[in-house]
Amino acid sequence: MQSAKDIAKRNGIVGAGGAAFPTHIKLSGKAEILIANAAECEPLLYKDETILEHFFDDFLKGLLLAKECISAVKCFIGIKRKHKKLIEKLNSEVPDDVSIFQLEDTYPSGDEFLLVYDVTKRLIPKGGIPLDVGVVVQNVETLYNIGINKPLVDKFVTVSGDVEEATTLKVPIGTKWIDILDFLKVNTNNKKFIIGGPMMGFVSDDLNIPVTKGDSGIVVLPEKHSLILKKTRTKHNIEKIAYTCDQCMRCSDLCPRDLLGHGVKPHKAMISVSMDLKQKFPYQASSLYCCECSLCSLYSCPEDLDPAKVMILSRRNLFEQGFKPKKEFCEINPMYNYRRTPTTLLVRRLGLEEFIRPHKFLDSKFKPDKVFLKLNQHRGEPAKPLVKKGQNVAREELVAETEEGKLGSRIFSSISGVVKEVDKEKIVVETK
Ligand code: SF4
Ligand code: SF4
Repeated sequence: MQSAKDIAKRNGIVGAGGAAFPTHIKLSGKAEILIANAAECEPLLYKDETILEHFFDDFLKGLLLAKECISAVKCFIGIKRKHKKLIEKLNSEVPDDVSIFQLEDTYPSGDEFLLVYDVTKRLIPKGGIPLDVGVVVQNVETLYNIGINKPLVDKFVTVSGDVEEATTLKVPIGTKWIDILDFLKVNTNNKKFIIGGPMMGFVSDDLNIPVTKGDSGIVVLPEKHSLILKKTRTKHNIEKIAYTCDQCMRCSDLCPRDLLGHGVKPHKAMISVSMDLKQKFPYQASSLYCCECSLCSLYSCPEDLDPAKVMILSRRNLFEQGFKPKKEFCEINPMYNYRRTPTTLLVRRLGLEEFIRPHKFLDSKFKPDKVFLKLNQHRGEPAKPLVKKGQNVAREELVAETEEGKLGSRIFSSISGVVKEVDKEKIVVETK
């Protein structure tokens, strides 16, 4: 029988929860514990819940293959307690060697560091990875992809926000977002779009960008919605308003990575905005351990400042100067259990309550006329094209590959058609 690692490598599978890290690398080591990450902590996204509801058998197959591959002796599905019906179903269908771990409905409970601590009480060192404490974490969709054991050509995405009904559907990788919105007849007038979740996603006016292996969905919002305005501040404005920070420290007090004892201090980075380059470093140092969850900017700060962006800019600055995260064991903050952020409060603070609407799975055979297959839709080296302009390709045919021995993944055509364009960044395939 093929191992999960071989299946992942051959089929170009990467982390489907956003990180897009090549899965075969994550499955290369041995670990005592495997956790399926079903936390889905970004509000308004429902793809993992949908997979567990509608494609549980394929997910379970992938989970058990991954467990065997890393020789795990324990296996958990980490899912929020609020999914009562789904948990009942999972409990009745999982084998004895798989346990369901019920998580509180907090943000960002799907962050690997928090998930591992919540489920196992093992604390990943700052600058470390789950394997440092004998754990491997895989997203629900990644495990589903291992279970179906086919070239990775489709992606589950949720379309939600200011739409009649939030919808999760499976689309060919490389489909333009505008084609998906048109297919679902979403009104795009006077709207803006967050690719990804409301917290960690990015605002884009350009809906011609394609779906990649790591995408989870799109959130449609009125163009003047406060979340859109906050997420589109310029660097100049972010730094200008940073001067008004009164150092109340609420951003650091509620920072999930600080609660893990990693010493992440966004309030310090805020002071550094007015300093010269050399003075800045000690104030910015903790940004190397920030997970970019945006909680400090979009929830914690009472003055609506943007410490998360300041942390991201600080980290870029530190990397440019040659600083790197160091692995260091730490102790959990005693306030860990008391300062977690409830998702209900977060949704209210984001002004998204009115967009928590019924959602459905659309089992459609949606086929776009054209797909744009990005060559760098995974961590590591971009894949190298194996096809030429004018060549016919079939769905699931290999069209690009990362050199053997380098970090990356294989890319397959997600539709049958003709190669219309090949350059350093993408391969365009159009139906005949
Ligand atoms: S919460 Fe806001 S005002 Fe308070 S220290 Fe942080 S950035 Fe400054
Ligand atoms: S974005 Fe803010 S809250 Fe999130 S880890 Fe970074 S500093 Fe902490």
